[in-house]
Amino acid sequence: MAGDPADTPVVLTVGEGFFVRQAIDNMGWCDMGDYILIVDALEESHLENEVMAAIADSAGDKPVRYVLNTHTHYDHVSLNGAFVERFDAEIINQRTATIEPAGRMFESPGRKICMIPMPGCHTREDCVIWAPDDGVLFVGDIFGWGLIPSGGLLTGDLRLCLRDTYARLVDFGASVVVPGHGPVCGTGELVRWVEYFDWLLETVAELAGAGKSDSEITAAVTPPEDMRGWWRFEAWKHADAVSKVLTSARRGVLGA
Ligand SMILES: [Zn+2]
Repeated sequence: MAGDPADTPVVLTVGEGFFVRQAIDNMGWCDMGDYILIVDALEESHLENEVMAAIADSAGDKPVRYVLNTHTHYDHVSLNGAFVERFDAEIINQRTATIEPAGRMFESPGRKICMIPMPGCHTREDCVIWAPDDGVLFVGDIFGWGLIPSGGLLTGDLRLCLRDTYARLVDFGASVVVPGHGPVCGTGELVRWVEYFDWLLETVAELAGAGKSDSEITAAVTPPEDMRGWWRFEAWKHADAVSKVLTSARRGVLGA
């Protein structure tokens, strides 16, 4: 993987009039004809002027009408207020609006954007944003380059939620997948993460069942070769995932 987006934020073109500012915290914007629609609004409010300039430079000097938040963690909403102040934009997330399970559609000539609730993997408010004409899918923090997206115990219910949600995400067949943080990727990474997660559950359960100690298990479960280049995976995400699975396995909450 070329470079760490932590060092150099970059504005990527992912469709005609459709852009992603790739950094530690990602955001996107697209031209909807007579207005601009934003997805997510970063952690650092001091980036306001830089971001507004990048939007105007790339998509033109149009008003921002909607800001869609994949969820309302602080690192996805800090510029919400700036968009309201400058454009009287409408902020749309699971706290400010009712979004039907089938999703809320935003349409312009030549482009559809659909905001779809997929709660439970990371927060109860998770939504994904799907642009079918562009093949672009914003998944918020449901995909975290190897991270298990929930901070809580890995229960049987959470496993089911992850399995069902990822199956839905993969079904979109997106060519560009935008995670909440780090490099953009594709559907292949979503598929690979599910395989990794299943492998982790199985391997850790087997070793725990064989009476291995925590440190023996941690040492034995090394990162898969093909995932070593994943963003910050080898540095800490793999170890974090092993630790979460191990904790849940020891407590016997993983379910079948
Ligand atoms: Zn989050």
